[in-house]
Amino acid sequence: MLQQTQTARVIEPWTIFLQRFPTPRACADAPLSSVLTVWGGLGFPRRAKALHTAAKTIRDEFQGVVPDDVRALRGLSGVGEYTANAVASFAFGQRVAVLDTNVGRIVSRAIANKSLSVRDAREIAQSLLPRDDVAAFNQAMLDLGAQYCRSTPLCESCPVRGGCAWRRHGGADPAPTSAGVSRPQGTFAGSNRQIRGRVLAMLREGPVSWTRLDQSLSEVTMERRELIVRSLIDDGLVEEVRRRLQLAK
Ligand code: SF4
Repeated sequence: MLQQTQTARVIEPWTIFLQRFPTPRACADAPLSSVLTVWGGLGFPRRAKALHTAAKTIRDEFQGVVPDDVRALRGLSGVGEYTANAVASFAFGQRVAVLDTNVGRIVSRAIANKSLSVRDAREIAQSLLPRDDVAAFNQAMLDLGAQYCRSTPLCESCPVRGGCAWRRHGGADPAPTSAGVSRPQGTFAGSNRQIRGRVLAMLREGPVSWTRLDQSLSEVTMERRELIVRSLIDDGLVEEVRRRLQLAK
């Protein structure tokens, strides 16, 4: 939920989500439409569908218990290297680096002072891990990146400025072109992403006819409306039943 979404926006839906689906099995047993409804307006609804699919795999193949093995975690729907390592480190205390966009900036600036490939960034991040208390170290790295080593870094107050290679040697900022460092997103207002969100918000209230959808999105061309709805259907988030649209079951 936190990927690309501010923490303050996530806290309430996250709490409600966990009350409604306290275990992978509870999530897996619910229809996708319920998961999408509880997910609410957090955006990126494909993440909710992936979570639902992952919950079903955990129920069916892992007796309802989240696996502690990075390779098994990577096999779950929607779980990439970052998420697998984060779960392995924070939930199971394993000695794996958690390399997100924040940590990607730190290793490219403070350690390498150059733009890094995925492999190099991964190797450096892994080499920094302490022997013990890896989860706390990973959390500290995430916080350092979020609080100080931001896109526009706050070097003057950064606690590791004394040992930072970029600060010591200078040059162009290596972070923006380094692997794993996210680029700024396009404007949300008026984007297809926003309109997809509006369609899903309507469907959370119940099935909707094309006519009503057309009325609610009258400022959007018919061609674009259809394209957006088709993309939701192709993503498995929406179904069309007798010319009415509804959340996928
Ligand atoms: S000194 Fe600046 S560039 Fe170096 S780690 Fe701190 S915030 Fe990042």
